[in-house]
Amino acid sequence: MSLCLGAHLFISKGFSKTIEEAYRLELCTFQFFSRNPRSLRNFKRPEKLEIPFKVFFLHSPYLLNLASPEDYIYSNSKQALIEDLLWGDLIGATGIVVHPGSHKGSGRKIGLYKILYALEEIISKVDTTCKIIIENTSGSGTELGSSPEDFEFIIDNLQDKSRIGICLDTCHLFSAGFDLRTKESIKETFDRWFSFIDTSYLMLFHTNDSRGSLGSHLDRHIHIGEGEIGEEGFRNLLSFELFRSKPLIIETPKEPTGSDEKNLNKLRELVS
Ligand SMILES: [Zn+2]
Repeated sequence: MSLCLGAHLFISKGFSKTIEEAYRLELCTFQFFSRNPRSLRNFKRPEKLEIPFKVFFLHSPYLLNLASPEDYIYSNSKQALIEDLLWGDLIGATGIVVHPGSHKGSGRKIGLYKILYALEEIISKVDTTCKIIIENTSGSGTELGSSPEDFEFIIDNLQDKSRIGICLDTCHLFSAGFDLRTKESIKETFDRWFSFIDTSYLMLFHTNDSRGSLGSHLDRHIHIGEGEIGEEGFRNLLSFELFRSKPLIIETPKEPTGSDEKNLNKLRELVS
């Protein structure tokens, strides 16, 4: 069984270098930040870009917050996502991965409605084939999107569901309290998530080990096999068709050299 492996790559050295790196790592897919990850500011983006990959993803900056109680951040987040979707469409991206957002004390329900209204507005304003892919979170602080119920609320209430996808991050699942160590616990986790949402929305996995323990709500990615999910956990995960048939993108720590190879090879080794 061949996996569709990918990595989060940096584009600071230019897109040709990024593509070179994707080839060097023998990737099937990859993702990169749609703009500066620590701000909502746009960088100079090429209008035309030939990316010789059928499936690749953008990732939204962390500051984007579609649940923000602050008008300025809320409207800027919507605007940034609109611009990124349009750019994603221009360059042929499969979708843009976005964290649902944090309610910052305004309350869970209000936060979820804000996300829903933001998505409704964005979907009605721009018509793109580039999908909005919502990623599950660790659920730290006031972060939304750590439970399948949050996803169910958003998807069930959206009028046009055809533009939405889901990304599950293994580290975030685990730190949010969904065990991924044994075949039984993985089955339980998947059964639970997909009793709330249809598997057809699932577009990719972010494949990271977790430094934080089960239910710690700590969002700290670590190398495959070196965290709390562990080698055995990933071996078990890879035995599930639902997992290994999706694009698996690593977002593991970048060391000066060789860390992406190490993590990708670990996954290749654990599947056989
Ligand atoms: Zn992730």
